[in-house]
Amino acid sequence: MKKKETMSEQDSDPAMSTLFVHGGIDGDERTGAVSVPIYQTSTYRQNGINENRGYEYSRTGNPTREALEKLIAELEGGTHGFAFASGMAAITAVIMLFQTGDRFLVSSNVYGGTFRVLDKVFRNFGIEFRTVDTSDLGQLEKGFDPSVKAIIVESPTNPLLQITDIGAAASIAKKHGALTIVDNTFMTPYLQRPLELGADIVVHSATKYLGGHSDLIAGLAVVADRDLGERLHFIQNATGGILEPFDSWLLIRGIKTLGVRMDRHVENALVIAHALERHHAVKTIYYPGLESSSGYEINRRQAKAPGAILSFVLADGYDVGRFCKGVKLITFGESLGGVESILTHPATMTHAAIPSEIRQKVGIVDNLVRLSVGIEDTDDLLHDLEKAFEASRV
Ligand SMILES: *Cc1c(COP(=O)(O)O)cnc(C)c1O
Repeated sequence: MKKKETMSEQDSDPAMSTLFVHGGIDGDERTGAVSVPIYQTSTYRQNGINENRGYEYSRTGNPTREALEKLIAELEGGTHGFAFASGMAAITAVIMLFQTGDRFLVSSNVYGGTFRVLDKVFRNFGIEFRTVDTSDLGQLEKGFDPSVKAIIVESPTNPLLQITDIGAAASIAKKHGALTIVDNTFMTPYLQRPLELGADIVVHSATKYLGGHSDLIAGLAVVADRDLGERLHFIQNATGGILEPFDSWLLIRGIKTLGVRMDRHVENALVIAHALERHHAVKTIYYPGLESSSGYEINRRQAKAPGAILSFVLADGYDVGRFCKGVKLITFGESLGGVESILTHPATMTHAAIPSEIRQKVGIVDNLVRLSVGIEDTDDLLHDLEKAFEASRV
């Protein structure tokens, strides 16, 4: 579904910013409540044998979760949405669409948890995978053989923010009869809609921007066609990794402000990136919103904005340990996408499982930090970074 961009096209499909507030199931028809009720129930009274009102048992279907699932399906422009207890539960359910002997090609900087579940869980079931630099389409093409049934792409990647041409990658996959799965966590459907670019399945850690307030763990998946939708619903119901009614409601609440939050996140990230780009304490900065960045042009074509995650390497003479201790307003910790700015040290946190030699080789060096830029005042954020730079000088 093509979303209109301006209010002047009022009688066509509503714009994204309107869908955030009114998409899916808008409030409660029975009472007029503007907020979808939390149906905190496990089961439903049935009128008789094979006579129910559309709900039988809450693992199979729950009205609050359904409101969220309809909402994310509309936002990503897919046929069906599914809500799971975490991003990893969503990714796991999607991988369960495949079978022994199938192989995946996976972006080489894919989220650590995705790598781990493929490497340590699904490998035991005979589902294989190989990592490939999906930003290099020649490499991607070379990775195919008849056993490859899907590619898993992140754009931008974590923590080096590499960009893959999603449309081009999806057409290569399609040519080989494989599905394209995109983890859209870093961008959200407000900034990037992979299904419109040709992907088949979108997954999210809704824990991040969609929830937006660092107060819940949740995952979402959206599919482009009905057949995949029926298969994924079967898996969701059969394996049971569903999102609870209260958390579904909390996520609907978070999504209402997604547009205004993302606008501010991106605006702030651009200010911080430009300041760090010319800062003497920063050796290298990775952010697809900088014209000097290798993925700038492709990202501009396929996404509305560059997102609000950036990474940078401290210059020689600055100690990364002291820098991480030196931030006060900015939270040092894991995760990203909340209203508060969060600083992460990939080498010891998100990417600690990768052997040091490989980390150095791919650029995840020891004095690299990742910043999820929040919606605070940028002068305050820059002041906090400046203080931390001063404190980290050796
Ligand atoms: C956090 C994250 C996940 C995992 O999501 P959880 O909600 O923590 O299970 C998957 N992909 C990306 C890109 C993430 O950032």
